[in-house]
Amino acid sequence: MSIEVVWFKRDLRSRDHLPLISAALSGKDVLCLFVLEPERFNQPDIDPIHIEWELDCAIDLSKNLENSGVSLHFKIGNIIDILNEINDKYEITRLLSHEETGNSWSYDRDNSVKKWCKSLKIEWCQYPNNGVIRNLKNRDFWTRERNLRMRIPLSESPIFISTINYNGKIPTMNDIGLNAKKLENRPVPGEDAAFTRLNLFLNKSGERYSTSISSPTLSTKHGSGLSPYFTAGVLSMRRVVHETSSRIEYIRKNKSQIKNSGVWIKSLSSFRKRLAWRCHFIQKLETEPNLDIVAQNPVIEKNMMRILDINKFNHWKNGTTGWPFLDACMRQLDATGWINFRMRAMIMSAASYNLWLPWKETGNFLATQFLDYEPGIHWTQVGMQSGTTGINTIRAYSMTKQGKDHDKNGDYIRKWIPELSMVPTEYIHEPWLMPKELQENIMCRIGVEYPLPLTNEVESRKEGIKRSYSARSGEDARRISKRVLQVHGSRKRPRKKESTIQKKLF
Ligand SMILES: Cc1cc2nc3c(=O)[nH]c(=O)nc-3n(C[C@H](O)[C@H](O)[C@H](O)COP(=O)(O)OP(=O)(O)OC[C@H]3O[C@@H](n4cnc5c(N)ncnc54)[C@H](O)[C@@H]3O)c2cc1C
Repeated sequence: MSIEVVWFKRDLRSRDHLPLISAALSGKDVLCLFVLEPERFNQPDIDPIHIEWELDCAIDLSKNLENSGVSLHFKIGNIIDILNEINDKYEITRLLSHEETGNSWSYDRDNSVKKWCKSLKIEWCQYPNNGVIRNLKNRDFWTRERNLRMRIPLSESPIFISTINYNGKIPTMNDIGLNAKKLENRPVPGEDAAFTRLNLFLNKSGERYSTSISSPTLSTKHGSGLSPYFTAGVLSMRRVVHETSSRIEYIRKNKSQIKNSGVWIKSLSSFRKRLAWRCHFIQKLETEPNLDIVAQNPVIEKNMMRILDINKFNHWKNGTTGWPFLDACMRQLDATGWINFRMRAMIMSAASYNLWLPWKETGNFLATQFLDYEPGIHWTQVGMQSGTTGINTIRAYSMTKQGKDHDKNGDYIRKWIPELSMVPTEYIHEPWLMPKELQENIMCRIGVEYPLPLTNEVESRKEGIKRSYSARSGEDARRISKRVLQVHGSRKRPRKKESTIQKKLF
């Protein structure tokens, strides 16, 4: 008996799933497979929160597939061993999956699967999962190709699939010996929840998107919150682009009846731009699959000579640096598994410039903290924010300025740092300036209940920027930066002069 195997991996949805449609159209018996690979658990960028999220989304998927009479088979183990086992029992004619742009481990794993398929003359059909183009020759026409791909009509779940019975029980986190920390406000897993979230955003909460996404508090209300769903592939990128474009079109056509239509259009257009950024950043990892272990510009990285100061690293990780706004962000991230873009950039910049910590260690730690960890976005952003690409402006944020801009009264700081809950607004961003007597009165002695800053913020940032400019100034560094720009640079011209943008941001 010969069968087709649909391998679900980071595409845990029943709708708009080309491998599933293709298998259904073949008319053959189909086995739908989801594999938990224990080797993955030990990777430095992976945390049990990721495995639990994936498992919960896969459980939801299996229920959705069951409604169409299709079983999803869970397996734990090495993918090649499992494929061998299936192939021995049945005969696999085709393996169908989406293309995956993941960390170095998944890249190597996919290479092994490719070899295995070749050795057994099994065809492995990999379908694009988003706007990332495999085997892209150069970036010149990338935007056009990506946009064309986004215009392809959506496909719903297949109506009829002939599936075979194959045992595979759904494991619990306990079964696999993992324990994930409990996240506050964790999104509800699964396709229905993702659609609900998307609809809520497009019809209600997204109106204030543009003006809210830089604030750590408002972004939780007016940001889409879709990133964990994208990461597990619960929603297809094309679906979100289609729905967003339809909504923009609808608002444009009904301007006079829709309150704040201009604000809506601005917000949703800005959101749609970020959907394109997602593909743009993942494309970089697709083109250079080892960006989680090798800096885009290794010469700059070497010249920087950053060292892992364990004391500083631990304070940064634990949110005890003595810089209130940064500490509040680290604690929110630890508790919820999510923080907005601006704060991610600031966290990474503080580690890289003020504390001069190496990007790989800080990047891996953040990856384990983000429920939405997406290697293609993460490692390219880590490269940018740590100054190791050589093609981006040096992004060294002032934590105190960011705090004053986005948490003027200090309510966010007080929420996440109970030690500072009694500190008056005047001192909340720089509590070390509080008079001693006040510190005693409110039982918040700096250096005792809450730490003194690890370094002088202004001086260490200045020093970090100086060292970064020096690291990228040599001929070798500049030569590699040119190559990075050629291979990965966005082909769009910046609208404003860099210096203007820099002033506004930092
Ligand atoms: C150091 C650093 C690490 C990051 N790591 C990740 C990561 O592991 N996973 C991840 O999804 N995002 C990452 N980001 C990008 C960004 O912070 C998140 O995509 C965003 O905060 C997710 O929340 P949202 O879905 O509500 O975003 P929204 O603002 O609603 O945006 C919608 C979607 O657009 C995409 N997007 C938004 N901003 C960006 C951006 N700057 N670059 C690329 N795509 C973007 C995401 O897919 C996001 O889900 C990182 C940013 C930095 C600075």
